[in-house]
Amino acid sequence: MEQAYRVELGAILDDLGGQISLTEEVSLEPMIIGSETFTPVAPAQLSVSLTNTGAGVVVQGTVAVDLKATCVRCLCEFTLHSLGEVEGFYISPSHAKQLPEEQEYELIHDRSIDLMPALLAALTIDLPFAPVHDEGCAGICPKCGADRNVVSCHCADEVADTPFGALRDLLSAQDPH
Ligand SMILES: [Zn+2]
Ligand SMILES: [Zn+2]
Repeated sequence: MEQAYRVELGAILDDLGGQISLTEEVSLEPMIIGSETFTPVAPAQLSVSLTNTGAGVVVQGTVAVDLKATCVRCLCEFTLHSLGEVEGFYISPSHAKQLPEEQEYELIHDRSIDLMPALLAALTIDLPFAPVHDEGCAGICPKCGADRNVVSCHCADEVADTPFGALRDLLSAQDPH
């Protein structure tokens, strides 16, 4: 089932300038971006304001969540903090035709809106395409599989054993100097 997070607009729909401040915990399902999965370890903290501007309802604020991710270099699991800027514009279906074509919006249904798409979009923009548990992560050795953050293997020293290393040795042997 699609995730949804519906918020009742209530009285602000009939009140120009009316505003709701919302501070809530929202449970999120794991987010999959490209080949990476980000699993929330706790509910997201949502803090937004909803304002009736006359043209529609403007939503602005932040969403923060801690997610479990896998380091693309060493494959360890680590927790990553994500903070997204939430932005949304919601209008009544009857107002949709009056808007310029380039204006992005979502519709108000039954005097309520679904904040989930805006919330997920905010986090998706903030999340890294290739998460690393530490900027200095040394990764795993492609040859022996050792975690170079923990042990130092000697694969790099054995480079002469590869065909390229052997070729290099041959070339330097022929060098008259
Ligand atoms: Zn790592
Ligand atoms: Zn190695």
